[in-house]
Amino acid sequence: MKFEYARRIKSLPPYLFVELDRKKQEALSKGVDVIDLGIGDPDLPTPDFVVERMAEAIRKPSNHRYPSSEGSMAFRQAAANWCKKRFGLDLDPASQVCCVIGSKEAIAHFPLAFVQEEDVVLVPTPGYPVYHIGTLFCGGDTFYMDLLEENQFLPDLSAIPADVADKAKIMWLNYPNNPTAACATKEFFEKVVDFAKSHDIIVCHDAAYSEMTYDGYVAPSFLETPGAMDVAIEFHSLSKTYNMTGWRIGFAVGNPELVAALKKVKSNVDSGQFEAVQEAGISALESDQSFVEKMRQIYTARRDVLVDGLQDIGIKASRPKATFYVWFKVPEGESSASFCTKLLDEAGIVCTPGNGFGEPGEGYARMALTVDETRLKEVLQRLKSIL
Ligand SMILES: *Cc1c(COP(=O)(O)O)cnc(C)c1O
Repeated sequence: MKFEYARRIKSLPPYLFVELDRKKQEALSKGVDVIDLGIGDPDLPTPDFVVERMAEAIRKPSNHRYPSSEGSMAFRQAAANWCKKRFGLDLDPASQVCCVIGSKEAIAHFPLAFVQEEDVVLVPTPGYPVYHIGTLFCGGDTFYMDLLEENQFLPDLSAIPADVADKAKIMWLNYPNNPTAACATKEFFEKVVDFAKSHDIIVCHDAAYSEMTYDGYVAPSFLETPGAMDVAIEFHSLSKTYNMTGWRIGFAVGNPELVAALKKVKSNVDSGQFEAVQEAGISALESDQSFVEKMRQIYTARRDVLVDGLQDIGIKASRPKATFYVWFKVPEGESSASFCTKLLDEAGIVCTPGNGFGEPGEGYARMALTVDETRLKEVLQRLKSIL
């Protein structure tokens, strides 16, 4: 028997973090004390009150049955209330909120409702790999929108040819941004709404980092933009905000027809998230958010240690006001790959080569603030000794 992969699998780029992990394992097996700044996965635990709520919820037999794929009304209501408090959005929990099994799941599945052969999807690059892969799985064509430093890592809408815009079904955006840590202005979001309306494009906004903001910066929801509710769906995640990456819970909100489309796909491929996890998620969303503030302070302190230290050794890192990533230009004469390989081989430091997120990321690298200050100081010591 010969197993032949489908074209969509054969044409997959190697998933960025799989390759990184392989290299890291290799170093670990050689006994290297590896410091991993590669992956955006919080090192600190989920808050106790969420864990306690889960412990209670798991004992309730009513939670042991199939959940509904769109999420319980209680979870959707909690998500709507959170969006009201946080962004001032008025969302109908029945028609404008869908629980998702981590936002990655929804980001990958949503395009199945709208994208088919010959359709174009506008995807930011460098960017989170799932926007392109979701397109590929639908048989659509990705048109990359370059995120360049000279444009504050915002896509230049005027660089999208008119025929591409007319064929485009979806535009992906992600602010605060992974990997560049850039933030969008409200003016930019307004331009996107106009552009989307004039070309009939659905705007999908990935808001995974909306709560990871520093120095008093408050990130807007795309849905706060006038007219956005006519064109957009927004993907939220509890993963980074509440250190819940392993729990797989988030929600999508926005235009009722778009939310209904996501529900339609999901009801055919999954049966929803475990109700106990949804209950735990409710406790996070309904909490006073002081936990989130505590995390912001921890990341701010780490960021300052790392950015100050990098600048001291001549690396031009700017201080991100959001996300837990530091995105910086690699030293003159190095490529993203050569620099990151050098860091791993000579210093046991894992960081992500910028071009792994897309070609315009060449010449950059990304470090995640997911180790404590002591380890970050160790990173700086090691860098000093090799650079
Ligand atoms: C981490 C991340 C997500 C996914 O998070 P989930 O755990 O699947 O909710 C989505 N988008 C971006 C840009 C991310 O970095």
